[in-house]
Amino acid sequence: MKYLSTRGDPARAGFSDILLEGLAPDGGLYLPERYPRVDAATLARWRGLPYAELAFEVLSLFIADIPAADLRRLTAETYDEATFGSAAITPLRPLTALADGLWLQGLSNGPTLAFKDMAMQLLGRLFEYELARRGEHLNILGATSGDTGSAAEYAMRGKRGIQVFMLSPHGRMSPFQQAQMFSLPDANIHNLAVQGVFDDCQDIVKAVGNDLEFKRRHRIGTVNSINWARLLAQVVYYFAGYFAATKSDQDQVSFAVPSGNFGNICAGHVARSMGLPIARLVLATNENDVLDEFFRTGAYRPRGSADTHETSSPSMDISKASNFERFVFDALGRDAARTRALFADALARDGGFVLAADEFARVGTYGFVSGRSTHADRLATIRETWQRCGELIDPHTADGVKVARQHQRPGETMIVLETALPAKFAATIGEAFAGLAGAPAPAVPKALQGIESLPRRCTVLPADVAAVRRYIEEHAG
Ligand SMILES: *Cc1c(COP(=O)(O)O)cnc(C)c1O
Repeated sequence: MKYLSTRGDPARAGFSDILLEGLAPDGGLYLPERYPRVDAATLARWRGLPYAELAFEVLSLFIADIPAADLRRLTAETYDEATFGSAAITPLRPLTALADGLWLQGLSNGPTLAFKDMAMQLLGRLFEYELARRGEHLNILGATSGDTGSAAEYAMRGKRGIQVFMLSPHGRMSPFQQAQMFSLPDANIHNLAVQGVFDDCQDIVKAVGNDLEFKRRHRIGTVNSINWARLLAQVVYYFAGYFAATKSDQDQVSFAVPSGNFGNICAGHVARSMGLPIARLVLATNENDVLDEFFRTGAYRPRGSADTHETSSPSMDISKASNFERFVFDALGRDAARTRALFADALARDGGFVLAADEFARVGTYGFVSGRSTHADRLATIRETWQRCGELIDPHTADGVKVARQHQRPGETMIVLETALPAKFAATIGEAFAGLAGAPAPAVPKALQGIESLPRRCTVLPADVAAVRRYIEEHAG
């Protein structure tokens, strides 16, 4: 299997080449040349496989340049019960007291309590494997406002050949998120608290990345959500969720996905393109509803970061959805020239684009529907899900449940992806139950109890490219 760019570069690359890269050289995103099709016999064979073996089977279809025995070992080490808390890895819980056929798929039982662990834990092992094979090292530079940074650090901690430099806005993450990252004792993890806001952190990462000489000299890499290996790892749990919710491979299911950068739901699009019987993909946004607007109207109008709302589902506070180009490329019949015109030209020139009527009609054949959820919806959904089902859900998952219920049809099996655990967002949970007797408190898993009182490793730096560059020069592997 070879990979191509959504913007038409004629070069083709192998999985191991794009693993350590971000964007394609022409600024596009990597996608496989075609989606492998999964036939009825394969689905029947996969049903009932343990998660790690299912992951091996799915990944094998996309990875031609890692020997099968190695890939099998990497997936087995990644998706084990000790790391993800149950043999099922992504267990389903019924929400039938809310609606018939409504399920929750738990993707957040990894080390940092958000679904990003599902992909990042594999990415850490793939990086370590590939770097050892090449005799190289990598300095990972990233910016985080929460979930991505901690998932990356827990995945890369102690890995040979890897140093992590993670920028975060000083004093602006939740106390729990700060403790998660800053309490890690591993020498290859560098927390850089920047005296500024998240956008300052991102600007610094971009400025360092644009300095090609510095980037090459220090072998700077990223783990952001456009990485194809992350997306590929996420395809697996759509299969796992499908098998867990159905008895026969003739059945169809729909998935509801709390969305920000369009990475998670894009993995659903890939699974559907492979032939998994997915009826609909329900995209849920919060007040930052750029993607909802697109699926309702065909207009894509990313807001500037100044117009992005700070909400109580903060990991979905995205202005520009970095994976969205992948889907549009597919929906336009893989027309790279048109994709380039939209994402390289129109986006820069006009700040957005509107699809032609025939193009939007094609989008309509991919099974997407969408909806938007607000702070009040979130609180009400958290409360109602607890009162009727006895399940405590986090604010992002609540956006998913809200929009799923808005779209679910009689008889439709609908799986909502649980993207984080409520322990990460205790303040909003408290607000949802304010004044209610017998309000539940989110359980903190054993491994994370008491982390707020552990010693912290973190270096405070000014919001200044030169200062960050100097720090990397002094500490790079
Ligand atoms: C990252 C994240 C999302 C958004 O996922 P995308 O892949 O960016 O669409 C939703 N919920 C939580 C809790 C997240 O951490």
